[in-house]
Amino acid sequence: MTVSEQDANRKPEANSRKDATREPDSSLSAIELELNRLHRSIRLTIQDYLRNFEGMQYPSLEENQRVVSTIQRLLERYGLRVRCPECGNPSILRVSSRKTAKRGVFVFDHNINGKRTFHGGKNVFPKMQLVEKPGRRLTKPQS
Ligand SMILES: [Zn+2]
Repeated sequence: MTVSEQDANRKPEANSRKDATREPDSSLSAIELELNRLHRSIRLTIQDYLRNFEGMQYPSLEENQRVVSTIQRLLERYGLRVRCPECGNPSILRVSSRKTAKRGVFVFDHNINGKRTFHGGKNVFPKMQLVEKPGRRLTKPQS
């Protein structure tokens, strides 16, 4: 094939673009769009439900821990994290025992610049804003 023949074959750009739209979308963008929409709806539904806990606490450390781990399991199943209100990073909510707080304190557990860090520390359920669990490729260093 000569150079001019290759050029001739490449020329009709308008046509090849038309052909591409008739084929199934190989990038799966349509299904991804639909799934993103569904996932967003799941995230908001769970977030709405978790609003019931905000500002509350159970009478014992064990109970608070049990409820929080149930919530975490649910979030894990749907690929969600709680957004840390202090730094904005996706985090795992936990209840830690403290000498000064018998029922425990609610902390946001996350890695910041590679270091395990805890924020928060209120003795009641914090506001839980849900975010997507970051994929490995999407993780970026936070300032
Ligand atoms: Zn934080």
